[in-house]
Amino acid sequence: MRRLLLATSNPGKVREFRRLLEGVPCAVVTPAGAGIVIEVVEDGATYAENAAKKARAYALAGDCLALADDSGIEVDAIEGRPGLYSARFGGPQLDDAGRNALLLVQLHGLPPELRTARYQAVVVIASPECDVFSARGTWEGAIAECARGGGGFGYDPLFLLDDGRVSAELSDAEKDAVSHRGQAVRAAAHYLRSGRP
Ligand code: IMP
Repeated sequence: MRRLLLATSNPGKVREFRRLLEGVPCAVVTPAGAGIVIEVVEDGATYAENAAKKARAYALAGDCLALADDSGIEVDAIEGRPGLYSARFGGPQLDDAGRNALLLVQLHGLPPELRTARYQAVVVIASPECDVFSARGTWEGAIAECARGGGGFGYDPLFLLDDGRVSAELSDAEKDAVSHRGQAVRAAAHYLRSGRP
């Protein structure tokens, strides 16, 4: 069976990838599981460039197929930030809770209609020779007034949906069915199963 290396060490992303890739005809492995330690500088100008850079680097390091996603949250009231820089918003000293608190401070006093936001994800699969597949997903929502919920990761305690819940309050299956990563990775899983986009 072909090996598919997940080009991330983010445990939240790994959990979602594993769920979404269930049933693909590949042995799905993490960098830690494959004994691969590399650092990829995410200096691309787009999600697609960063995802391709990560997928290519891991495919070469593992000498196998690698799947990467680059993703972020874009908040309209602050000109689409943090966007590409979502993982580093506020600097390296902040954790997920700190980044969420900073976002709440930046949106303080804004009414619900001005708190619109979206998650974006681009997934790339690369082999050691070339990129073989790419897909994008977008999930529209807004930024809640305070963090809540115990599921998901990252900005999920703040990502407010039309039904009044935040994405950290969804079950895994509910998030996978609609999320940006769910859309893009389902397309990748279809490609891996069928050999066609
Ligand atoms: P990167 O793709 O490694 O640059 O990291 C993307 C960052 O965007 C993550 O570390 C999170 O902060 C945020 N993000 C992306 N997708 C999600 C999600 O599904 N839930 C919560 N935060 C997310």
